Amino acid sequence: MTRTIDGNEIADGISADVKASVETLRDADVQPGLATVLMSDDGASETYVSMKQRACEELGIEGSHVEIDPDEPAAVLFDRIDELNGDPSVHGILVQMPVPDHVDKRTVLERIDPTKDVDGFHPENVGRLVAGNARYKPCTPHGVQQILAAEGIETEGKDAVVVGRSDIVGKPMANLFVQYGDGGNATTTVCHSRTEDLATKTRQADILVAAAGVPEMIDGEMIKAGATVIDVGVNRVDTDTDKGYELVGDVEFESAKETASAITPVPGGVGPLTIAMLMYNTVKAASLQSGVEVEL
Ligand code: NDP
Repeated sequence: MTRTIDGNEIADGISADVKASVETLRDADVQPGLATVLMSDDGASETYVSMKQRACEELGIEGSHVEIDPDEPAAVLFDRIDELNGDPSVHGILVQMPVPDHVDKRTVLERIDPTKDVDGFHPENVGRLVAGNARYKPCTPHGVQQILAAEGIETEGKDAVVVGRSDIVGKPMANLFVQYGDGGNATTTVCHSRTEDLATKTRQADILVAAAGVPEMIDGEMIKAGATVIDVGVNRVDTDTDKGYELVGDVEFESAKETASAITPVPGGVGPLTIAMLMYNTVKAASLQSGVEVEL
C-alpha cells in the first residue's frame, strides 16, 4: 500500500516547535524578526512572499516587507540590504528570487550578512553546509530531510538520487545526503539535464528526490519498486478550469503511486515544509544573534 505523505501535517508539527521557541525568545525580550525583499512584479514571487509573511504572523515572528520597483538600479536593492543588515530588530533577511536581469544574483546573495542569511545561500553558509557544520540549512532540502525523518525513512546506506543540481535545491540536497549522521550517510547520485539514460539512474534510487521543474517527467516506470519519492517540483500547467492552470509536480503521481512505497503530493508535500524551515531558520537566527538559547 503506497503512503501519500502529508506535508502539511509534518510542517504543522515543526511550526508548533518553532512557535514555542518564539515564546522562549519573547520571554527573554527578544522579538524574532524576518524581512522579506521583493524586486519583481512576478505573481508567483508575490504569492511566495505573502505566504512567508503569513507564516510569520501565525508564529509570532515580526515580519517586515520591502518592495523595490524592478526598474530601479541594483544599488537601490543593495542599499536596502545594507540597512537591513544593520537593523538589530531584523534577524533574518530573504531576498525573493529571481531578481531582475540587471541585478547580479551572486552579488545580492553575498551582500546579505551571513548571520542573517536564513535562506542559507551566502557562500559562507554554503561552505559551512558542505563542511558539515551548517549554520542555516537551505529550507527546501532541510524540509525534505524533515519529511524523511518524520516518516521514519532511514537514509543511511541507501541509494539517494537527486534529479536537479540547482544551488537552492539539488546541490544542497545532495550535500545533506552525503553528510555524516542523521539524514545523511546515503550513497548519492546527482542527475541533471546532461545526464544520459536518466531512467537507469532513477531506478536505482531507494530515495528519489525530483527537483527539475519539468512537469511530470518522472513516471512509475522510472521508479524502483518500494522507493520513497519526494517531489519538489511545482509547475503550472494550463487547464481550461476557471483558474486557468493547475499545479503539478515533476513526478506523474498516479503511475508513481503504483511503484513507490511512499510519495509526496503536489501541492501539499514539500511546499509547506519549505516555509516551516524558513521560520525555523529565522528563530535560529534570533537565538544565535541574541545568545538566548532555544530548543529547536
Ligand atoms: P532550476 O531550474 O534552478 O534547476 C532545475 C534543475 O533540473 C537543473 O539542474 C537542470 O539541469 C535539471 N533539469 C532540468 N530538466 C531536466 C531533465 N529533463 N532531466 C534531468 N534534469 C533536468 O530549478 P529549482 O531547483 O529552483 O526548482 C526545481 C523545481 O522545484 C521547480 O519546479 C520549482 O518550482 C520547485 N521548487 C519547489 C520548492 C518547494 O518549496 N516545493 C522550492 C524551490 C523550488 P541543468 O543544471 O543541467 O540545467
